[in-house]
Amino acid sequence: MRTKIVAGNWKMNNDKKESKQLIKDLKKSIKAEKLENTRVIVAPTFVNLSSSIKAAKNSKIEVVAQNMHQAKNGAYTGEISANMLKAIGIKTVILGHSERRTYFNETDKGLAEKVDAVLENELETIFCFGELLEDRKSDHHFTVVKDQIANALFHLDKVAWKSIILAYEPVWAIGTGETASAEQAQEMHAFIRSIIEKKYNKEVADEVSILYGGSVKPANAEEIFSKPDVDGGLIGGAALNVADFTGIIKAI
Ligand code: PEP
Repeated sequence: MRTKIVAGNWKMNNDKKESKQLIKDLKKSIKAEKLENTRVIVAPTFVNLSSSIKAAKNSKIEVVAQNMHQAKNGAYTGEISANMLKAIGIKTVILGHSERRTYFNETDKGLAEKVDAVLENELETIFCFGELLEDRKSDHHFTVVKDQIANALFHLDKVAWKSIILAYEPVWAIGTGETASAEQAQEMHAFIRSIIEKKYNKEVADEVSILYGGSVKPANAEEIFSKPDVDGGLIGGAALNVADFTGIIKAI
């Protein structure tokens, strides 16, 4: 059975005190939830990872990083490597978020290197991808998504896919209040599973968790999560509010 996941990407929000408080509040609010076969993840900023790990101790909440550099070390001012994250207890890293691709010029090639560094360090990644509005309008969304996945992940062997979580995030739905319909999400997730099956096999395709991201809220989460190929969500704005994030977790 595929693992269900609700992951909150806090982006550049929450200082140390706020991060700890949000985790403390979330711990309390999900205490009564059963959450069998379900992971709850939060991604604070780099500087707040250690204190957030401490705050999340003895709870279901996993703390992950929002990004990393592909090199082990060296002259890369301002960057942080996989082994540095591992050393403080991080097990999972988000890669390829559309904001990283857009504002920091991340490319499929660079992301393939980051994925390799994640795997070399025995970490796991939540790998994000998704089409722009113009791609969807011109009916290129399937090709764009296929290329993003193939270019960054299809050099991996089957075993490596155990450490991959996919997050389909149509760029036009991120932070815009506009959500892909549950049908659009299901259609794309099924397509993603089909290209993975074609490249690898049915087992790999069936086992990979595919999250949807893009303006998920408590009000639309249940419908999106009810689709057979949607295994949870990567949540931005709504993850900053404990009631909203809890509502989304309850929906799964
Ligand atoms: C995101 O940034 O990954 C995201 C899905 O944001 P939002 O939920 O705010 O659209």
